[in-house]
Amino acid sequence: MREILELCVKMDVFADRLYQSLARDCAEPELAAFFGRMAEDEAQHTDWWEGLLEAWENGLLPDLVNDTTGLTERLNDLYAELETIDLDSLGSLDVEQTLALAARVEFFMIDPVFGELIELTEPAQAVKRHAVYQVHVQRLVNEIARRFPADSLAALLAASLTRSWSDTMRLAAYATHDPLTGLYNRRALYTHLPQWTAWSARYGHPLAVLLVDIDHFKHVNDQYGHAMGDAALQAVAAALRAGVRGSDLVVRYGGDEFAVIAPETAETDCTELSTRLLDSVRSISVTAPNGDTLRFTVSIGVVVSHDVAGSEPRSVEGLLAAADQSLYGAKQAGRDRSGACILFEKV
Ligand code: GH3
Ligand code: MG
Repeated sequence: MREILELCVKMDVFADRLYQSLARDCAEPELAAFFGRMAEDEAQHTDWWEGLLEAWENGLLPDLVNDTTGLTERLNDLYAELETIDLDSLGSLDVEQTLALAARVEFFMIDPVFGELIELTEPAQAVKRHAVYQVHVQRLVNEIARRFPADSLAALLAASLTRSWSDTMRLAAYATHDPLTGLYNRRALYTHLPQWTAWSARYGHPLAVLLVDIDHFKHVNDQYGHAMGDAALQAVAAALRAGVRGSDLVVRYGGDEFAVIAPETAETDCTELSTRLLDSVRSISVTAPNGDTLRFTVSIGVVVSHDVAGSEPRSVEGLLAAADQSLYGAKQAGRDRSGACILFEKV
């Protein structure tokens, strides 16, 4: 993992140096300013990777990438491609050649590998980083579009960059999101929950995990058909998302079950959160093709981990099992409620 993140740092440092050289050697002020901005972007990307490397060194980023050897090889190949660029001979390039070079660099940097690695960042941050990267790529595409006719090879190059980038983003979304509800999927949960348990244990901050299951959901499918069931799942997913903070992670855990991971959430806040979720779901309705109005309720299992700073991280399986137990209690007690909050703490 260290090697992977170090390679990412090295590549962005290289790109930063390249853009700085292009900015310095460029005779045209406008183009020089453009390369200067690209260099600033690269410096920011370098900071991201350094932040992830630091998190990894602090034990806050478990070895999450399955195929680390394949990834390392791929990054090494990409870096080798970058290294073929001779930074000392940039002064002799004309405008077209410098932009082609920038396009070549960005073509390597939009490799899906980077999209996947950015997903290791805390979810709300990862979304922002993808958006910032999008602006970076778009900056180059706009610069090329501004300078070359629409039927030129350069314009085609810019268009293919745009397409590769959107394909990369689509792939990243497939890998981490549930297509029906647009929520994060189970894979994303198992990426982020271990990081949050590690962070919570290290700094002694509370972490809440909620499991939310729709009540009598089979009835919707049986009575109104699977398509209506799907619409209901989408509506409940949207209601859950509306009831959480931006920093919380809402996951489709499976079937009609969802998980909410809420960092910085102690027992009292967690009670408020589950009340908000219960209300949010109660407030929605879906109209069936026969005109019936369908309303929903959910049952919620709640667990809060709140250890002293420097504790061993709680196991993800242990937290989820406890949340499941609390959920079972809520179902047994009559549904449309949250179960007793199970509190894990070291005092
Ligand atoms: P309970 O209150 O005990 O949770 O009752 P329930 O009827 O909701 O029971 P359960 O949670 O076991 O049922 C989940 C149902 O969700 C079973 C399955 O048919 C349905 N389901 C799972 N995934 C999907 C899906 O993607 N689309 C649709 N339409 N239904 C799904
Ligand atoms: Mg259910």
